Amino acid sequence: MKVHNFYAGPSILSEFAVEETIKAIKNFANTGLSLMSVSHRSKEFVAVMDEVQQLFKELLNIPEGYSVLFVGGGASTQFAMIPMNIMQKKAFFINTGAWSTKAIKEAKAFGEVVEVSSKDKNFNYIPKNYEIPTDADFVHITTNNTIYGTEFKEDIDSPVNLVADMSSNIFSRTIDVSKYAIIYGGAQKNLAPSGVTFVIIKNEILGKVERHIPTMLNYETHIKKGSMFNTPPVVPIFVALQTLKWIKNNGGLAAMEKMNIEKADLLYNEIERNSLFEGTAAKEDRSLMNICFVMKAEYKEFSAEFLAFATEKGMIGIKGHRSVGGFRASTYNALPKESIEALVDTMQEFEKMKS
Ligand SMILES: *Cc1c(COP(=O)(O)O)cnc(C)c1O
Repeated sequence: MKVHNFYAGPSILSEFAVEETIKAIKNFANTGLSLMSVSHRSKEFVAVMDEVQQLFKELLNIPEGYSVLFVGGGASTQFAMIPMNIMQKKAFFINTGAWSTKAIKEAKAFGEVVEVSSKDKNFNYIPKNYEIPTDADFVHITTNNTIYGTEFKEDIDSPVNLVADMSSNIFSRTIDVSKYAIIYGGAQKNLAPSGVTFVIIKNEILGKVERHIPTMLNYETHIKKGSMFNTPPVVPIFVALQTLKWIKNNGGLAAMEKMNIEKADLLYNEIERNSLFEGTAAKEDRSLMNICFVMKAEYKEFSAEFLAFATEKGMIGIKGHRSVGGFRASTYNALPKESIEALVDTMQEFEKMKS
């Protein structure tokens, strides 16, 4: 049976990336050695590191004056590393869910945090009415809320350094990098397997805090050494490169965005049409990457049955996060449209069974 991978993360990667990695795990760049057992300082891996940074810059159209870093520790380590490196007194957070809540907790150790939040409605929308304090060192947003299925639809304007957690929507659409001071994320949603964290950082924002920053947690360490201060996660970085090649060969970010809109529309339209289901996120803020839906109140008793039915049909990973309940279909770049069509068919079949 064909399986359809709707996991939120780690999640689907393109067949191209998987196949190229399998080949490299057996024989990397004609070295006769496995990718898993070559030095990160070998000329073959240095070439991978150079190319992945180059493709980040090319695909995202990153202006001069930014560095692209690959570090360990996940997006979760960045929650502390960012304020440690750039927060002098104050930060402003647009709190749109579980991940930004965690980031706020870390930032509080370094100064004052002011926030605006959508917690009043279980984070089902993106706050719109707020003013970013001009005396803040930075404003932090989570551009796509993997758990609650909401997404910032544009690159917001900010009078202070704009910092964005893009773990779950990096490379899903075109963005204006020049509006951001830092863009970061765990790679395991839309780019690579788990184990590597990407950081795109505007160099000039650094060097302004007085606190001591441990060597490994200092961005300048990684900038100076081109992400090779210590041993970087070699295999995930190789996979990230394959993903970027795949994106480039498939038309770049404009093409990804177009396809992602088509895919999301297909599923959102069915959620709206189907008499059993309803979406949980405010329509204007709905995510293109994580589509959350539940059984309508009067049909709640069918939830477990639908999950079992869908799983039997090969829909993997659609159980919603416990803080929202119901279902979540993650529709990252590599998820083919056929998988969405299969899910839509499953929802329609289930509706017929129940009517
Ligand atoms: C998954 C996720 C994280 C956590 O990433 P780790 O790499 O596991 O630390 C943070 N932010 C967002 C938006 C995520 O989706």
